[in-house]
Amino acid sequence: MKDRSIETEAVHAGRGADAPKGRPSATPIYTASTYEFDSMADSDAVFAGELEDYIYVRQGNPTVDALQEAMCVLERGSAASCFASGMAALHASFLAAGLRSGDTVVASKDMYGASLALLDHVFGPFEVKPYLADFSDLESLRNLCENERPRFLLGETISNPLLKVLDIGEVADIAHAVDARLIVDSTFATPYLARPLEDGADFVVHSATKYLGGHGDAIGGVVVVRDAADESALTRTMRLVGGIMSVWEADRIARGIKTLALRMERQCANAAKLAEWLRSREEVATVHYPNLGAIVSLILADDSREAAWRFMDALKMCVRATTLGDVHTSVSHSASSSHREFADERRRELGIADGLVRVSVGIENIDDIIADVEQALR
Ligand SMILES: *Cc1c(COP(=O)(O)O)cnc(C)c1O
Repeated sequence: MKDRSIETEAVHAGRGADAPKGRPSATPIYTASTYEFDSMADSDAVFAGELEDYIYVRQGNPTVDALQEAMCVLERGSAASCFASGMAALHASFLAAGLRSGDTVVASKDMYGASLALLDHVFGPFEVKPYLADFSDLESLRNLCENERPRFLLGETISNPLLKVLDIGEVADIAHAVDARLIVDSTFATPYLARPLEDGADFVVHSATKYLGGHGDAIGGVVVVRDAADESALTRTMRLVGGIMSVWEADRIARGIKTLALRMERQCANAAKLAEWLRSREEVATVHYPNLGAIVSLILADDSREAAWRFMDALKMCVRATTLGDVHTSVSHSASSSHREFADERRRELGIADGLVRVSVGIENIDDIIADVEQALR
């Protein structure tokens, strides 16, 4: 060993030290892309699946696996996979639900805009036909499903930005009656407020970029499945499409989850107080708040883009940003951000008024949040 040159030592010295005997109290960040075994026979056994272990990062990483395990526990699922973003997670959930060319799918018309665009632009060329439906009109939804026999139904626990709450149990029954699967995007609710799998959903999807991470500094997505039978299709997509979550993001998101309950408790309480206060203001015509979650949407009495922008520009503390779920309060103008691509008429049909501002309420002191909103309304 001592005879090796500086060039060689610099590369190999200290590499591959034995793991400590004690169990670390926090999950280590495993940056290794591959693992070396004592013999080629051992390595071959891992490749063959005879020995369960890590071998290559796209196939699995201990830090990411720890986050998957946490999400399984929080969502009461049987398996989870982490992805590079919420969109990659949604894409994987569609494939895991068995989507193939020629299928129809039924999505809530209140879905996140990019989720609908994913169905249209990525799966459209494979002749997938998405139907949009009002998921609060259960009778029409049942009829549509009986006629169109979709592969899956896709809805959100709490919709953006009108905050409609999905009756997951009823919609799951409608889906299962026609042998369809139910995929629920539960980003706005988090497992703190809802556990869609317990209510009958087959797949729950999260953009971990929002509440799970919670600090606006990490991007990721998660899919959790209810039935163990769906695990292999999900893992296959993760490994072969390759949109895996980075170990650094997994570490930040896992750290965020440790305070999820504390943050949600404060954020939901703040949102309820803000909604109540907004209802007493003459500058505000409508307040959307379903008494669930930490998002409040308001429509100004002066229902115009100019008024909405003037209000947003006047905020001194609340952050003008097209995201949500962070520790700080943030505001976004749906008509010019998430629903920008829709024609004016279609947007109004969906209830996205020009004067609508979505507030993601943070963990600050509620008096400071109200004070900032009040001076901006003035
Ligand atoms: C942000 C978001 C997504 C997409 O997640 P990314 O992490 O940005 O890819 C999907 N669904 C909802 C409800 C979201 O808010």
